[in-house]
Amino acid sequence: MNDLQRMLNDIEMEVHLTRHLIGKNSLDDRVMAAMKKVPRHQFLPEDLRYRAYDNGPAPIGSGQTISQPYIVALMSDLLNTRPGDIILEIGTGSGYQAAILGQLVKQVYSIEIIEDLAAEARNRLNKLGYGNIEVHSGDGYMGWPEHAPFDGIIVTAAAPHIPQPLIDQLQVGARLVIPVGLPYSYQELMVVEKKSEDEVQTRKILGVSFVPLTGEHETKNTRHKPHMPSE
Ligand code: SAM
Repeated sequence: MNDLQRMLNDIEMEVHLTRHLIGKNSLDDRVMAAMKKVPRHQFLPEDLRYRAYDNGPAPIGSGQTISQPYIVALMSDLLNTRPGDIILEIGTGSGYQAAILGQLVKQVYSIEIIEDLAAEARNRLNKLGYGNIEVHSGDGYMGWPEHAPFDGIIVTAAAPHIPQPLIDQLQVGARLVIPVGLPYSYQELMVVEKKSEDEVQTRKILGVSFVPLTGEHETKNTRHKPHMPSE
């Protein structure tokens, strides 16, 4: 069995083991096809490529990580995308999650707070020919209002609460997938569905461990009232 097939099998096995939490026994075929197609080794530093198809996170420099394949697949599935969608990602990192989403939707906008990582991901995605992903360097807490409203938003760093600007930039009916909880500790992966302009429904999926969402909201009182999760 090759390394890629081993990774796909590991994802399927972990989906099966967590089926009681995620409410399904298999992920969307389109998501699994994207996981098969995007070459994960291209998103890792050269000296770590030997473990590119392990089902685990890996360092990508600047103290950041590329997420575990199972989590990338699960979050992509939870977004419930359609081919014509416009999606916002907060936390570009290596660009791998953006590349997976790029296979599923029309356009991905992705924001990365560390300039070097944003530049590297932009170059990598260009070189690999992913033409429907735009990477911006900045603080994603405030979203990307110029391209809003979005058909889905994914946050790949742990937030202390659900950022109100991201809810504001979601279409009615669309989903925000986000890990919420304490930095460097336990967080809950949450799906936030915008039911109407002033109503959201939140669902806790399972426990995860992400690097923190950094930026101004950490040190200042934001102008926006934070939205606390409820079930
Ligand atoms: N999605 C990435 C991938 O596929 O490689 C993995 C993301 S890594 C777990 C989290 C990323 O979020 C880091 O690169 C970090 O610098 C970034 N980040 C943290 N806070 C941010 C913020 N406020 N705005 C944008 N990016 C942020």
